[in-house]
Amino acid sequence: MRGVLVSRGRRCSSAGCHCQEGELHGPYTYLAVYTDGRSRTVYVPAAVQAIAERYVEVTQRGEALLAEISQINLELLRRRALE
Ligand SMILES: [Zn+2]
Repeated sequence: MRGVLVSRGRRCSSAGCHCQEGELHGPYTYLAVYTDGRSRTVYVPAAVQAIAERYVEVTQRGEALLAEISQINLELLRRRALE
């Protein structure tokens, strides 16, 4: 799963709530994801937070691997061009 997990507090709409004074609710976990040219923030319930962390981690590892393979292929292409 693409994105970055972020933890942040939230302000509710109840008048007179302590969060209006700056003591926010939470923190809650959100997935910040950039798709189709825009960024979105999706709430991640605590019950699935560990799974979300794993999904994000696996994707980051996969993308790092693809970036590495891409660099290797670019280098191979350069060498071929010099032959
Ligand atoms: Zn509140």
